[in-house]
Amino acid sequence: MNVLIVEDEMGLAKEMSSFLVKEGYACEIVHTGQAASEKMYIGSYDFILLDLGLPDYDGLDLLKEAREDGKDSAVIILTARDGLNDKLKGLNMGADDYLAKPFSLLELLSRMNAITRRKFGLQKNTLIFTGFVLDIQNHSLHYQNTLINLTKKEFDILYYLLLHKNRVVTRMQLTEHIWGDILEDDYDSNYIAVHIKNLRKKLMNYSNEEVIETVRGIGYKISII
Ligand code: CA
Repeated sequence: MNVLIVEDEMGLAKEMSSFLVKEGYACEIVHTGQAASEKMYIGSYDFILLDLGLPDYDGLDLLKEAREDGKDSAVIILTARDGLNDKLKGLNMGADDYLAKPFSLLELLSRMNAITRRKFGLQKNTLIFTGFVLDIQNHSLHYQNTLINLTKKEFDILYYLLLHKNRVVTRMQLTEHIWGDILEDDYDSNYIAVHIKNLRKKLMNYSNEEVIETVRGIGYKISII
């Protein structure tokens, strides 16, 4: 999943980014409201971590923009202001959660996991499909009791397709949400095909069912009843 970090404290922004990258998120950082506004207009993000106190913008105005663009990003507002007012305003304006600085990165991660569970209607931190169990928290995949070794990208792709089960995920979406900023990358759809092929091979060792369908010319889909 991809994250837009909107934070003018560069140290904090970097700290959040390196932590989340290790957890499998693709992160982009912007330090101003103007840059955030442009990014939000062009791209689509699973998460926006939004500092309310920006040098050039009221964070709440950005939240309003994020909510009006209809892109369905989860927004967590971050603020040093301990005013209850801002928190309530933010939540009323559609923020999904709120963290007061200073906060622990582990707390940030658990809030993000909770939002994902809520958004996709998951009861637990696991996704179960055709005998496989994908554990979101431990980043693992098991078939019955056997651990299946996935690369980070294979895990991320499988997780993303499972969250969006029964829907076609385009190659473009996969690139954007798994690899991050597509505009800076040399976009090559063959790259994704290789990861999918390897992932399929690993799943096939355990189950004959074709878990990941190719939707020709568009993308991929996991169908689960
Ligand atoms: Ca700030």
